[in-house]
Amino acid sequence: MDIDQLLSNLHRYPESVQEMVEKQIISRGVQSESVIQAFLEVDRKIFVPAKAHAVAYADQPVPIGFSQTISQPYIVAFMTEKLEVSQDSKVLEIGSGCGYQTAILAKLACKVFSIEVIPELVALAQKNLQQAHIENFEIFNQNGRSGLKEQAPFDRILVTAGSRDIPKKLINQLADRGKMIIPVGKYFDHQELLLITKENNKVRTKPILPVRFVPLV
Ligand code: SAH
Repeated sequence: MDIDQLLSNLHRYPESVQEMVEKQIISRGVQSESVIQAFLEVDRKIFVPAKAHAVAYADQPVPIGFSQTISQPYIVAFMTEKLEVSQDSKVLEIGSGCGYQTAILAKLACKVFSIEVIPELVALAQKNLQQAHIENFEIFNQNGRSGLKEQAPFDRILVTAGSRDIPKKLINQLADRGKMIIPVGKYFDHQELLLITKENNKVRTKPILPVRFVPLV
């Protein structure tokens, strides 16, 4: 749905971060206090285009340009809680987009390395994150399928675009006892969020939620 369609919808959108967090995130079962706190601290309005400010806290994805979207708040919260990020985690994110998920991860982690393939979105995410006073991140303009060999291993890896497969290089760059979350599926309508864990070189994969993400190129 484009921004004009969202704006012309008749139903009322939440007007504050607090309302968004209560009605969409806590009420659907997200319990982690640190995740909830991170959501309260990061104003989603900074990350959506000015034209979309009225729908900044809406219960759905919002277009950010270049055929990409900022994910629905609940999905961002769900993935973040399942990833179990802590203050000493080194995190890799694939698909910075507007930088919203990067900001949430940065609130919880030691450092976030994020990769975005569209140069204009790298600039946009950097600008938004600066405005949100987030500093413990770095964004790289390249294809995220290869990960970031120089910075590996990562305690946590989060892919925010739908992939047809699990990129092998990302598994290789996952630390021992690391966790990775990635939407995988052959078609937009049939993707599953996978939680991947690695321990003693044993990799386990568990489907945790059916989802629809823009494609990982
Ligand atoms: N996490 C973002 C949502 C991003 S949408 C947010 O909070 O807004 C998915 C993003 O992944 C898009 O910006 C898209 O350009 C990017 N992307 C798609 N394929 C990619 C790839 N192979 N490497 C890096 N980024 C990719």
